[in-house]
Amino acid sequence: MYVCYADSGYLRFTYEATDFSPAKAYDYIIIGGGTAGCPLAATLSESYSVLLLERGSSLNKSVLYESNFFQTLLAANDNDSPAQTFISEDGLQIVRARILGGGSMINGGFYSRADDYSYDNAGIEWDMRAVERAYEWVENSIVTHPARLNRFQTSLFNGLLESGVVPDSGFTFDHVQGTKIGGSTFNDSGIRHGAVELLNNANPENLDVLVHAMVDRVIFSTFNPLG
Ligand SMILES: Cc1cc2nc3c(=O)[nH]c(=O)nc-3n(C[C@H](O)[C@H](O)[C@H](O)COP(=O)(O)OP(=O)(O)OC[C@H]3O[C@@H](n4cnc5c(N)ncnc54)[C@H](O)[C@@H]3O)c2cc1C
Repeated sequence: MYVCYADSGYLRFTYEATDFSPAKAYDYIIIGGGTAGCPLAATLSESYSVLLLERGSSLNKSVLYESNFFQTLLAANDNDSPAQTFISEDGLQIVRARILGGGSMINGGFYSRADDYSYDNAGIEWDMRAVERAYEWVENSIVTHPARLNRFQTSLFNGLLESGVVPDSGFTFDHVQGTKIGGSTFNDSGIRHGAVELLNNANPENLDVLVHAMVDRVIFSTFNPLG
């Protein structure tokens, strides 16, 4: 069975924080090697030097299997598990990611593009051609069009239609009204493809990734200690 970590080229520029002496200045330092941090680091590294800091570990093969989804969440603890329990501000006990690839390595894998409302109300003048290219990059790298729905998904799909969430929009990546089949970051063999794989597209000359690198504080200064 193909496991995405078989193609883990990013490990060439991924280091344990304690083994790394960063006597170097970077154009960008990204805190959090998660779902957003990995593609951001890969993209910026095309033209800039980048340091990506992730508090979790780089590799945990068990998260790659769809069948381990609940096991990963149930094993969440305060040490070095890929998922960490915490209590939200409104009092809910929930989990968050602590692994290179972030939430994309522990989540349900459902993939959809954002809705128009989000773009229209973000207060940003989007270059929609760049947005389209970014979606295609991600979709071609880690998203699968599911060949079939499993029993749980079929029940959910039919249940939504029966309760009036219509129309049946079939398969689409777009955010549409009604009930649809979206993409999945699990392939048809139940193997997860997380955001960490997008690091394989980085320029290795320009990117250093540190794991077990917990950022405690950020100090802004005009003084350059490297001279
Ligand atoms: C159980 C579960 C199921 C989900 N299912 C889906 C789904 O099916 N589809 C969907 O679209 N979304 C789903 N989500 C939500 C989705 O995974 C998140 O919205 C998304 O991953 C958030 O991305 P992010 O880059 O903002 O944060 P994250 O991916 O969480 O990345 C943040 C990273 O920063 C690191 N970090 C945090 N603090 C520090 C620090 N001080 N120093 C260094 N590193 C730090 C963390 O370890 C983490 O790796 C699910 C979430 C969960 C928890």
